[in-house]
Amino acid sequence: MTRNLDIAVFEGDGIGPEIMAPTLAILRKIAEANGDYTLTFTAHPAGAAHYAKTGDSLPKSSLDAAGAADAILLSAMGLPDVRYADGTEISPQIDLRKAFNLFAGVRPVRVGPGPLSPLKIPQGREIDFVLIRESTEGLFHTQGTGTVTDDYAEETLRITREVSEKLFRFAFALARDRKAQGRGPGRVTCVDKANVFRAFAYFRGIFDEEAKAFPDLIADHAYVDATALWMVQKPWDFDVMVTENMFGDILSDLGAGLMGGLGVAPSADIGLDQAVFQPCHGSAPDIAGQGKANPLAMILSGAMMLEWLGLRHDIAALAADGQRLRTAVESVIDAGQILTADLGGTASTQQAGDAVLAAL
Ligand code: ATP
Repeated sequence: MTRNLDIAVFEGDGIGPEIMAPTLAILRKIAEANGDYTLTFTAHPAGAAHYAKTGDSLPKSSLDAAGAADAILLSAMGLPDVRYADGTEISPQIDLRKAFNLFAGVRPVRVGPGPLSPLKIPQGREIDFVLIRESTEGLFHTQGTGTVTDDYAEETLRITREVSEKLFRFAFALARDRKAQGRGPGRVTCVDKANVFRAFAYFRGIFDEEAKAFPDLIADHAYVDATALWMVQKPWDFDVMVTENMFGDILSDLGAGLMGGLGVAPSADIGLDQAVFQPCHGSAPDIAGQGKANPLAMILSGAMMLEWLGLRHDIAALAADGQRLRTAVESVIDAGQILTADLGGTASTQQAGDAVLAAL
C-alpha cells in the first residue's frame, strides 16, 4: 500500500524561498520515482516578513497545520531589521521547538575527502559524527526573561530528569542505528562540565543510568572544553555526542566549521511526536535575491527528513531514499567542482541543485 506523508513547509525569510525551491523539486522527483510512498508539501506563512506585514510571526493556523503534518521542513527565518517591540529577533523556529517539545537538536558532522574542510585528515580517517544538542532547557531556560539590573545580570541553567532521560535514550538509539548501518562503533559521549557544576554532575548521573539499558553500546564522558580541543585535533574519534543546549549551540557551529561552512551544515529538531528539519544557517539577507545562496544544507536537511520518516513509519524505501540523497549531496561536495560563493566557487543556487539531481 502506498503511504502518503504530509509535509508542512515554511519557506522562511531572506534566502529561505531560494533554497527551498530546489529542495522541494528534488524531494518531489525522488518521491515520484518510488511507488512505496508519496509526499504532499503544503506551504504555510510564518517568519519576519510575515510579521512585518501582519503583526503575527507564526499564525495559529500555521502552528496547527505544522502539528498535524507528518514532518516540518523549514528554511531559514528572521531578518535583522524586523524585531518584536522588546528588540528580540523573530524566530518562529524556536517557537516550534517549544510548542512541540523538540528536545533533540541533531547536528550531523561529516567531512569527506574534498577541498572544503580546514583540517588535514590523515589517510584512513573519516570524520562522521553527530552532535545532539538538548534544545528546550539548559542555559536557554530563562531566555528572554533573565534578570538585568544596574548591578548584575542573571540567567538560570535548568536540567530536568524528564528531558534528560528522553534525550539520552534518543542519543543511544541513534548510536545503535548508526552502528547497524556501519557508521561508527556505537559510542555515545556525554559532553558536560561535571567537574565544576552540580547541575552537570546531575546530567551525567542520568546519562550513566540510561546507559545501563544499552549494554551493546559504549558510553563515555568528556568535558566541554576538552571536547572543543578534540573536535579540532581528532574529530574522527567521535560517534554520537550529547550535550546541554548552550554547549551544543557553540559546538555545532564548530562542527559546521569543520565541514567547510554553514552552507553545508544540516540539522533537525526532534521530539517524540514531531520534528523540524532546517539548515543550521540563518536567512543570509546580505545575499538574498541574487540566486547565489548555497542550497546544500537545506537539501541535506530534507534527506534527514526522509530518513527520519522512513524509520518512524517503517518504510524502508523512504529511509533508503534519504540515505541516497545524502550520499548524492556528499558526492557533489567531495567533487568540489560545483561550489557556491560561500565555499569559494561561482556556482548559482540552481547549478548546485542541478548537480545534486545529476548525482542522484
Ligand atoms: P542567524 O542568527 O539567524 O543564525 P546569522 O546572522 O548568524 O543568522 P547567517 O544568516 O547564517 O547568519 O549568515 C552568516 C553569513 O553566512 C552571511 O554572510 C551569509 O551570507 C552567509 N551564509 C549563510 N547561509 C548561507 C548559504 N546558504 N549560502 C551562502 N551564504 C550563506
